[in-house]
Formats: sequence, C-alpha cells, structure tokens
Amino acid sequence: MAMTARTLFDKVWTAHEVLPETPDTPAVLYIDLHLIHEVTSPQAFSLLKSLGLPVRRPDRTLATMDHSTPTRTEQVFGNVPIAVDAASKQVAQLERNAADFGVELFGMRDARRGIVHIISPELGATQPGMTIVCGDSHTSTHGAFGALAFGIGSTEVGHVLATQCLLQRKPKTFAINVEGKLPPGVTAKDLILSIIGKVGVSGGTGHVFEYRGATIRALSMEQRMTMCNMSIEAGARAGMIAPDETTFSYLKGRPRAPTGTDWEAACSLWKGLATDAGAAFDASVDIDATALEPMITYGTNPGMVVPISAAIPDAGGDAVSDKALRYMGFHRGEAMAGKPVNVVFIGSCTNGRLEDLQAAAQILKGRRVAAGVHLLIVPGSQRIKHEAEAAGLAEIFRTAGADWRESGCSMCLGMNGDTVSAGQYAVSTSNRNFEGRQGVGARTLLASPLTAAASAVRGRITDPRELM
Ligand code: SF4
Repeated sequence: MAMTARTLFDKVWTAHEVLPETPDTPAVLYIDLHLIHEVTSPQAFSLLKSLGLPVRRPDRTLATMDHSTPTRTEQVFGNVPIAVDAASKQVAQLERNAADFGVELFGMRDARRGIVHIISPELGATQPGMTIVCGDSHTSTHGAFGALAFGIGSTEVGHVLATQCLLQRKPKTFAINVEGKLPPGVTAKDLILSIIGKVGVSGGTGHVFEYRGATIRALSMEQRMTMCNMSIEAGARAGMIAPDETTFSYLKGRPRAPTGTDWEAACSLWKGLATDAGAAFDASVDIDATALEPMITYGTNPGMVVPISAAIPDAGGDAVSDKALRYMGFHRGEAMAGKPVNVVFIGSCTNGRLEDLQAAAQILKGRRVAAGVHLLIVPGSQRIKHEAEAAGLAEIFRTAGADWRESGCSMCLGMNGDTVSAGQYAVSTSNRNFEGRQGVGARTLLASPLTAAASAVRGRITDPRELM
C-alpha cells in the first residue's frame, strides 16, 4: 500500500507525539529544545522549587538574557548598575535559577549572549525536524530550519522544565505559496508584512504555515527567519520552511551542529522532512512576489499595512480601524510616504541579524541621520555586534549619527528603558506595533531595515528605492 503523502509539519509532529490527542484530551508532545529567558521563567522555576522537582532535561534547556537587559555598554561590561530595577532583579533571578537547576546560561558578559531566537540558530542548536519551545511568541522564528517551534506561556514553561513534554492540540496546515523574484528594495520583511495584510491578523489561527515556492527557496536563512518570526502576527501557531542546501550550509560547522558521520546522517534525515508531492494542506494562499513594494504599517496591528506609495485605506467606519487611527494620529486617505518620524529602531529578533545591518548600512553609508531623529541600532546578539564591528558597519552607523548599542530586545518592547516617548512616531524593524508596545503612547510603524534607514536619513517615511 502506498504511503500517504505528508506535510513537513505532519512529519515533525508525528515524530514527537508521545500520546495522540483524543476528543477530550490534547496530545502529549515531546520537546527537543527548551529556550529560556529572564522574563517568562521566574514563575516556572518557583513552581518547580515548590514541588521539589528538578529540570527533567537540563541538556535540552538553554538560557539567555535578552528581554529586559540594558544595551548601554557601561551597564553590561562596566560597573554601572542596571538602571531598571525590575530588569536587575530578573537578571539576578535567572542567574540563581540556572545555577540551582544546572541549566546552561549565557550570562550578561558572555560572548554568546543575545536575543533567544538569534543565538540558538547561531550556535547550531536549532536544527531541522526538532520541536522547540520558549516563553516568547516569536519562537516561530526557528521554523525557518524546518523545526516545529512555537511560543508557550509561563505555566507551560514550568511543564516543559519538569517533564520535557507539552500538552498541545494538533494544529491544521496552511500553505503560503510564493512565486517570482522580489523586486529591488523589497525584502523578506516586506513579503511577510504583505502576507499578514492579505491573510489578516487572525487568518492563520489554529494553523501552522508552511512557506513554499521558488521565492522562499531563494531566500537566505536570515531572510527565512524574518518570515517565520512574524507567522504569529497572522495568528498562526508556527511557521515552517523545508530544510534544503541553504539550511545545511548555514548549519555546517556551527558549534552545536552534528559533525563527521553524524553530520552526513543528519543531512539525509533532514532531506526527508520536506512535504511530499501531493500532500494536502487545510488552507492555502498564493502570493506573486514580483508585484510587491516596500511595506509600512499605519495602524496598531501588523495587518494594518500598505505599500509605501499607498494611502491609508478607507475602512468605512470600522471601529477597530477608527480607534487605531486615533491612536496613531492619522486619517484615512493620507499618504504614508513623507510623514515625519522622531525615532528609528533597527534591531529585534525579526531584523537584528547581520544581513539586516548590512542593508541598513547600504543606505546610511556616506549619509547623515536627519536632525532631531534618534536612530537606535541594536544588534541581535553579541556575535552579530562583533561581526558588524569587524565589517566596518558600526563605523558607518556612528559616522551617520546613529546610536550603536550592546545586543538585546531593546526598543522592540521597551522593558529595558529603551522606549519611545508618548506621541512620537517610531519606524521600527521589530514585529509588533500594538498600542504602547514601545512605550506608553508610542506610535510604531513597522518596516524593513532599508525603509527604516531611509526614513532616518530623510526624517520622513521614505521609499528606500529613492536612496538606493
Ligand atoms: S526582540 Fe521582541 S519579539 Fe523578539 S524575543 Fe525580544 S521582545 Fe520578543
């Protein structure tokens, strides 16, 4: 009898199912890698302590500091105390918990420290076919490697620490088929923003996306991570891309990737993960990449997005849209290009990798940030920081008048004190433009590193193609 054609998701899910779901109970899913950070782990470790339980698999648990850590060098490497009291306590707590439970931690001064979704791929700890969880929504990033990766809540962090398993309902599958070459100046960030605009912020609910097609195959690993990172913003549980030669050459030689004959064995296993020809998806959408433009958001969720040359659409009295426009201080029918900006943030687990910094540098080289604009550039990890410095990018940024910092989540969520003031406009390469995300009353416009850098130079929302 012929085997049923299966999707990438189905193969990874089935391989990790300890117990399948029933109408009354969720499935029990085995977790290969559990990533920890200082903000969503304290409660979970307290739970273990109160129950007298150890961490079930410390060797499959990896901790870093990123969400609330300072980006000012003197607070990371100098003797200046961490300015934000809550952050200082979270850092100290994770240091204690990691030591008490024998969990590996990349502490404040570790050269391997950085945003959790950036360091795990850098290390080669993220691998195809794995199940990966973390107490952070954007764990979907790791799906770029053909892993099934998603965010979990603090209570679930405790479950995984204690059992290395998770209770989960099996999601449905959703194919995002993208064909055609991305035009110059149009990046993976613009592609995912346009997909979210098309599918809607809850269009992916209950599904796992698989990004497919020639356009996706042509993306680098860094661009694939940008795509998978924002799957959650379309409501999807996770996003995945089948592993291929691009994946293997990214992973080869990384500190935690398999070596020698193990490497050959792993690659042949990973090659078999791709969706079989003829496998059925529960839903699908087709995207023509050749028709895309740089994108920018105008509202308070990532689905409120338009091509940069477009005007704010007329939502015809829709209450959600009206509220969003009031918060943003925008009106229907206004052009997005040319609107003044106060702050530009280049960084985050969406766009804080070396390629993103190279894109920004391409625009900033030989130019100056507009008077009155604060351009904050925060590398996604200490490794990226050093690579950017060695490649001369940091010098380009400083000469342009940008503020170049130590790695962390920083202004993506503003927990470390890097915030946007009330009423100010911030073009941000991060993934969420919710009310107050970057500070109380802050107004966030999501865009690519190219658009962010071009807007910093002009002090207005600018189509990057004008400066390329
Ligand atoms: S950069 Fe932002 S989205 Fe990414 S892990 Fe940090 S807080 Fe979460």
